[in-house]
Amino acid sequence: MYNLKVVVIGAGIGGLTTGIALRQAGFEVEVYDRVRELRPAGAGISLWSNGVKVLNRLGLGEKMAQIGGQMDRMQYLTKTGELLNDIDLQPLVEEVGQRPYPVARTDLQQMLLDAYPGEVKLNHKCIGVEENAQGVTAIFENGHRATGDLLVAADGIHSMLRQYVLGEEIQPKYGTYVNWNGLVSASEDLAPKNSWAIYVGDHKRVSMMPVARDRFYFFFDVPLPKGTPVKPDYNSDLAEHFQGWAKPVQLLIERLDPSKTNRVEIHDVGPINGMVRGRVALLGDSAHATCPDLGQGGCQAMEDGLVLTQYLLTTNMGVEYALQRYEAERKERTSAVVQKARRRAEMIHGVDPDITHKWYQQLAHEDPTDVTSAISKVILAGPLH
Ligand code: FAD
Repeated sequence: MYNLKVVVIGAGIGGLTTGIALRQAGFEVEVYDRVRELRPAGAGISLWSNGVKVLNRLGLGEKMAQIGGQMDRMQYLTKTGELLNDIDLQPLVEEVGQRPYPVARTDLQQMLLDAYPGEVKLNHKCIGVEENAQGVTAIFENGHRATGDLLVAADGIHSMLRQYVLGEEIQPKYGTYVNWNGLVSASEDLAPKNSWAIYVGDHKRVSMMPVARDRFYFFFDVPLPKGTPVKPDYNSDLAEHFQGWAKPVQLLIERLDPSKTNRVEIHDVGPINGMVRGRVALLGDSAHATCPDLGQGGCQAMEDGLVLTQYLLTTNMGVEYALQRYEAERKERTSAVVQKARRRAEMIHGVDPDITHKWYQQLAHEDPTDVTSAISKVILAGPLH
């Protein structure tokens, strides 16, 4: 189809990637966000090869390599620091054809903003949508209205447009744990600079992975009831949760800057019954917020953007038809990822302590290629093989 105008609500990973893909396809695009200033939520993200391949397709491969960390290995350790498994990621890279990149979120957002050949319209909170046979109009709190041939609702986990698309309200589900994340200077007394180090024990987890400019993206996971009051002194709170853990974990807790550390209660959404209504398509977390335990939520948003653009380009049967094809392809893929990530979150965080205990034992004996094959299966089920 030609000369389409697309209104995109939300300038997160999903909205920006989609905006870039649509503009490269020659469509007119307007991207809106409610915030006054774009700041990424969270410190880092691991982009697995399926996400990186979308960026390659958009011509951003070289830039991605510049901001991505050199992650050659994955090391699982016990809470006291004994090595459980040391996994070479090269077989994975060879199987899927692209290395994964951990990356600081500010770097990723800046790269996407630089690549989007337009201006994101900030301070525009979408509060409603109107649709007829000719087009769809987004209505904003400040009185602005934006009409297009289709509307992409990339408005995140608390999407207000999800209810319009589904005809019912779906609340995010608590993933049973709290995650603290941030960036810290990389140093060998914390972890090898080319490895993803993961400490596991007591249903908790500590992770450090390299990102550009000699930093580690770190996170801590602790299973806690939803609504557990926040203790603002993160250093002493984490020191308490991880008392007796290995020296590098203690050093990380001492070195982290609490004012630049995020504390998030992990939630997911779905699987939901649909992603599309008429000329409106949900995309990214609005449709399928995913527990971060597979590192796939952002990658799925990128895949969504690419697939949506391809269907708009390759059919002349109309916008609604293209969106239905998008939904048919993406609903199955993203539902599978949401469910798999939730099962993994439960396994890691002791929802059934026996299962978590078995996982610890399995880690010690698992053939590293079983780990890389499981990761490559998720990657290769995406649209770019
Ligand atoms: P968002 O990034 O939430 O963007 C939504 C945008 O919409 C926001 O800018 C918001 O301001 C705007 N908005 C909302 N409502 C309105 C409105 N009414 N009007 C206008 N604008 C609006 N994924 C990975 O691939 N790998 C990982 O390693 C990984 N790790 C993660 C770790 C944590 C702790 C968490 C929480 C998530 C992680 N994810 C990871 C998931 C990933 O962060 C998300 O899937 C991704 O950011 C979703 O992008 P999005 O664009 O769909 O939504």
